[in-house]
Amino acid sequence: MNHFGGIAWDISWRDTEQWDAAIQALSDLFCPDSPEHAASRQAAERVRELINAVDPFLQEQTAVICPRCTNVCCIDRHGSFDLHDLVYAFCLQLPVPRYERHRNETDPCQFLDAAGCRLPRHQRPFRCTWHFCEALIAHLQTLPAKKVRAFHAAFQELQRVRAKMLLRACN
Ligand code: SF4
Ligand code: SF4
Repeated sequence: MNHFGGIAWDISWRDTEQWDAAIQALSDLFCPDSPEHAASRQAAERVRELINAVDPFLQEQTAVICPRCTNVCCIDRHGSFDLHDLVYAFCLQLPVPRYERHRNETDPCQFLDAAGCRLPRHQRPFRCTWHFCEALIAHLQTLPAKKVRAFHAAFQELQRVRAKMLLRACN
């Protein structure tokens, strides 16, 4: 599944025309409490639960690795919702970020401040959660295998349910 109602999976707010059309189309489609979207809302709820479940592990690891980073990955190019993120937000009636459109791709991400990302993890673009840089991957290899396996299992479930959410939204 790489598109939905003509919206490409890798849509970005940087394509203003496509972005505004997608937001309008999704606003028209998702009515709060509509029975036809009950299954996708249920899947989106599960996505949120799973993101919240993996968050403490990720926070624990990034708190060790990221403060030493000299090439921070939180640049503006990475801060856009994609199609899955939009469907998830519309299912759960979460805010879609309001993007400052004058920014350059390589500027620090507009949601980054001195204390880190301003968005709670479950409201961030999902790519921010699945991005594992080399330093983070190397750090995971130093952790107890059981702990890492538990994280991988939860993360695979998260990816599976997220894909199901979009399929359900299309039906
Ligand atoms: S995830 Fe990796 S690249 Fe991004 S800020 Fe942390 S250490 Fe740096
Ligand atoms: S984690 Fe937050 S600050 Fe970093 S790129 Fe994602 S949205 Fe931006």
